Amino acid sequence: MRLFIDEHNIPWDRAWFITQKTLAYTNHTLMPEALERWPVEMFESLLPRHLEIIYEINFRFIENLKTWYASSSDLNSLISELSIIEESPNKSIRMANLACVGSHAINGVAALHTELLQSDTLKGFAKIWPEKFFNKTNGVTPRRWIRQCNPKLTALISSKIGDSWIKNLEQVQKIEDFIEDAEFRREWRAIKQANKQKMAAYIKKFNGVEVNPDSIFDIQVKRIHEYKRQLLDVLYIITLYNRIKQNPSIEMVPRTMIFGGKAAPGYFMAKLIIKLVNAVAEIVNNDPEAGGRLKVIFLENFNVSLGQKIYPAADLSEQISTAGKEASGTGNMKFAMNGALTIGTLDGANIEIREEVGAENFFLFGLTAEQVYSLKANGYNSMHYYQTNMELRGVIDRIARGDFSHGDTEMFKPLVDSLMYDDPYMLFADFASYIECQEKVSEAYKDKDKWTRMSILNAARVGKFSSDRTIGEYVNEIWDAKAVPVSL
Ligand SMILES: *Cc1c(COP(=O)(O)O)cnc(C)c1O
Repeated sequence: MRLFIDEHNIPWDRAWFITQKTLAYTNHTLMPEALERWPVEMFESLLPRHLEIIYEINFRFIENLKTWYASSSDLNSLISELSIIEESPNKSIRMANLACVGSHAINGVAALHTELLQSDTLKGFAKIWPEKFFNKTNGVTPRRWIRQCNPKLTALISSKIGDSWIKNLEQVQKIEDFIEDAEFRREWRAIKQANKQKMAAYIKKFNGVEVNPDSIFDIQVKRIHEYKRQLLDVLYIITLYNRIKQNPSIEMVPRTMIFGGKAAPGYFMAKLIIKLVNAVAEIVNNDPEAGGRLKVIFLENFNVSLGQKIYPAADLSEQISTAGKEASGTGNMKFAMNGALTIGTLDGANIEIREEVGAENFFLFGLTAEQVYSLKANGYNSMHYYQTNMELRGVIDRIARGDFSHGDTEMFKPLVDSLMYDDPYMLFADFASYIECQEKVSEAYKDKDKWTRMSILNAARVGKFSSDRTIGEYVNEIWDAKAVPVSL
């Protein structure tokens, strides 16, 4: 708008028409810190002309609201909800509101995420402009996330159904026709095993830890954030460790618990979670009683290149965010395409992945987004879970008394206090359900052939999550552009 008006002498109405027709707003997260609010004071000193233009955009928008809703009794509340300017003591610009007003289309990145935008985060805009809202469920490219990172699996699939699936991932479903072929299943399993062995060698080299390639490779790799609940995974590890300590001869399906991910440098709790994972790893990996049954690995410097080694080596994909918090997730898709099974909540694209692969091929646990909201509304009392679940209590007590911090009871206190007294992500509410679901995972893994069938069905049925499908939808329904064919 500034360039059109100040540099190109285009009249306001024409400039606004071009702007609105050109721009589309994709919301990528529901976390409030990402819905930026810029203080007017700062804006004024840095971008005074832009601020003038924003005021004019807002004035015209509010004039429209007054016309459209002249007879509405909640006109004033609608204006204060939708205004680009927040009239609080520290007056600020609501960037998401500016994006909604300035765009012809608004979209979320998974079905649940789009629903939550419409019913909550952007509900006023959904009310006045329902036709502007779209869902565009995210996808990932099968060229990088299957062909490039998993050449053996790519060769096996192509040997059965040709290679057109690489350009049209829905076609990968054809491998289901070979599921009764025992030799195909054996090859499928051998490829996963080879990928796990490579990962084991990487772990030996960089972490100096010997892991058992026959154990379940149970993997959580993603940015470290409290809502993603890496801590819940840690609570499960300590649960297993406590069981071993209480009964050293206990029978247990061996697990290698692998984490990777970066924390924002200013995010204290995220960095403390990394510290705890490494502290638990130090104790568990050096305890002969845990032996070949339990290992904990934190992989440094998780990035796309490392991801290309990790996703193909996973048996189990951890997608355990508090329901309603993960917009979509894309790691969930990369894992499933490479034949990992998911343990997950009804959040983001997990919901659609489960719909595609079938409920019987997905390990579901935890509260729904709706249950999370109503529990919050009725007062979430984490102490209740601590007092009534002895296994949970044993886990928390072990952290609190310094077993993973050389007796230091202060180090992990911020994590314990948050879980016990002020946890917006409600880890305790989902703890029992998660542990029970992990038992089902272990049970299922004992039947190698059954597990392999489930793995094949996961990879076969996630064709929807190709970014070719996603981008095609943006091209046709939002950008009104002409698609460029995929070249191989
Ligand atoms: C795919 C990917 C992510 C996203 O992972 P989520 O599990 O969806 O949060 C983050 N970082 C890297 C390096 C990735 O490859």
